[in-house]
Amino acid sequence: MPATPAWPPKSAPRLFVEQELSADTPVTVEGNQAHYLSKVMRVAPGDAVILCDDMTGEWAAEVIEAGKRRIVLQPRDHQRPREAVPDFWLCPALLKKDRFDLVLEKATELGAARIAPVLTRRCVADKLNAERAATIVTEAAEQCARTALPEVAAPARLDALLRDWPQDRHLFFADEGGGEPAADAFCYAEGPAALLVGPEGGFDDAERAAIRAHPASVAISLGPRILRGETAAIAGMAVWMAEAGDWLDAD
Ligand code: SAH
Repeated sequence: MPATPAWPPKSAPRLFVEQELSADTPVTVEGNQAHYLSKVMRVAPGDAVILCDDMTGEWAAEVIEAGKRRIVLQPRDHQRPREAVPDFWLCPALLKKDRFDLVLEKATELGAARIAPVLTRRCVADKLNAERAATIVTEAAEQCARTALPEVAAPARLDALLRDWPQDRHLFFADEGGGEPAADAFCYAEGPAALLVGPEGGFDDAERAAIRAHPASVAISLGPRILRGETAAIAGMAVWMAEAGDWLDAD
């Protein structure tokens, strides 16, 4: 007797949807997502689609209706709860669009809980397209079969970020001028953390002084070579994940 094929098939497309998922409520997908399912993935009634809502987690859903611009799906099996990610914020100074896109994508893959863009004096870019940023992090999560999305905050000026900094969170400051070796600083500091990284032109002296004066800040070095902002953000986050995040828990 041939084994019945596994459901949902591994090749099932994955989508994040806004609404909270449950077995009682059908989901209607329109716009780009409907186009992707109908034109690209050519789904038909009965096919499986994996849905995530960044709240309850991941569901295997069945296509009920497959129109060109509107797909109706019925969540059937709750496959996985929303995953936990380490309590880590990445606070990257805004960079030029394509480089900041890379930071958004890689910070998502690396498991940032929150991405809080910072506006500093030498930032070349001064605004962030929130919808585009949400699309980038969502697509990064879908491509890596993740069930959690990072929160992407609106850009905040550095002085406001420092003023409103939460009491209990380490503020690791990637200082191209030098600091504690990142791996040492990260592994000896328990609890919620954040990594602040400067823009293409670095921090100016006043900014560096203000950051160093903050009680939660710890200046860290990412080695003897100057890195681009996006490289420092990605590499710094990887070191944190390895030293203080959940890479140590990998079984
Ligand atoms: N143009 C500046 C460098 C800016 S690099 C100069 O030539 O000095 C952009 C940001 O990446 C810096 O503000 C810092 O936050 C981070 N960064 C780059 N290299 C680093 C290093 N070796 N150690 C710590 N942070 C670094």
